[in-house]
Amino acid sequence: MSKRDYYEILGVDKNASEQDLKRAYRQLAKKYHPDLNPDNKEAEIKFKEASEAYEVLSNSEKRQRYDQFGHAGVNGQGAGGYGGFNAQGFDGFGDIFGDIFGDIFGGGSSQGRRRNGPRRGADIKVALDITFEEAAFGTEKKVDIRRTEDCSKCNGLGAKSSSGKKTCDQCNGTGEVKQAQNTPFGQFVNVRPCNVCNGTGEIITDPCTKCGGTGKEKKTKRININIPAGVDTGSVIPLRGEGEPGEKGGPRGDLYIYINVLPHEIFKRDGNDVILEFPITFVQATLGDELEVPTLDGKVKYKISEGTQSGTVFRLKGKGIPSVRGYGRGDQYVKVVVEVPKNLNDNQKDILRSFAEETGETIHEQKKSFFDKVKDVFG
Ligand SMILES: [Zn+2]
Ligand SMILES: [Zn+2]
Repeated sequence: MSKRDYYEILGVDKNASEQDLKRAYRQLAKKYHPDLNPDNKEAEIKFKEASEAYEVLSNSEKRQRYDQFGHAGVNGQGAGGYGGFNAQGFDGFGDIFGDIFGDIFGGGSSQGRRRNGPRRGADIKVALDITFEEAAFGTEKKVDIRRTEDCSKCNGLGAKSSSGKKTCDQCNGTGEVKQAQNTPFGQFVNVRPCNVCNGTGEIITDPCTKCGGTGKEKKTKRININIPAGVDTGSVIPLRGEGEPGEKGGPRGDLYIYINVLPHEIFKRDGNDVILEFPITFVQATLGDELEVPTLDGKVKYKISEGTQSGTVFRLKGKGIPSVRGYGRGDQYVKVVVEVPKNLNDNQKDILRSFAEETGETIHEQKKSFFDKVKDVFG
């Protein structure tokens, strides 16, 4: 069965904004979520279909690939996608399910706790240009990123010294304030973050002069990145735990390196194969020759036979790009292009004329230039 179009699944048009997509997905998820449709196979399929469509379309990079190549552009490489180098940390769903369950089961304390509990730090995304050869054989790169670190003066304390901090009186250090609310349905307890200490449970009485009490500082951090052989434009390398720091004991976010492979002067790439157009003279094509063909591994000798036609493609097995999955290597395809000689001298032309005579060919040479002919007609 062929896969349905993602836009069609979500019921939006191709120009749908992020908000449109989110709205459409929320509605479908609310309708088909398995928790709300126990033992309903059809709902489960619909839910999975919508989730897949939203996962792709809500990611601008994947959406672009999908718009360009259809399903093949986003899952053509198999479930592993980029040999495991796909960004798995898709953070769009967390929000949405929070929203949906908030809507369905009522907000209140569960959301309050979420807001106040440990929170994972934000992800950092960095684009990295690498050369064709670096992509082919892998490389190690150093990338400078700006991220939040503990303040270097107070080591993250926020205060000048440990005595420059005290427990918040308002919340007794819990960071939360409980509020009872009487409604016709009974009493509800609302838990919200303490607004005196901003949910930290502590008040800084003598703030650090460098960070002003936040305990944080933006720093440039140099990160070593191992780029495996075989990556291509669009490959994403995740570095777990190298993103922004979490809050209230939550883990750091991740760092995602988005690879962009710069074009090569002579090579082109098609998956793991290298494509090369190789110009030869008409004499080489006619008589045959031994060519010296550039490859990623250096020059390789290749014999072309007598009478090789322009456009002939030959294959150099195993001279392509190593698979990012770590086994096998693509091939290099060489397309010979016969170049017609230009600006021959009189002697060279005479040789060709006698060659034509020898083969019984009659040539009607255009001796007059285009401008002469124009003059003949209009002059
Ligand atoms: Zn407080
Ligand atoms: Zn500080």
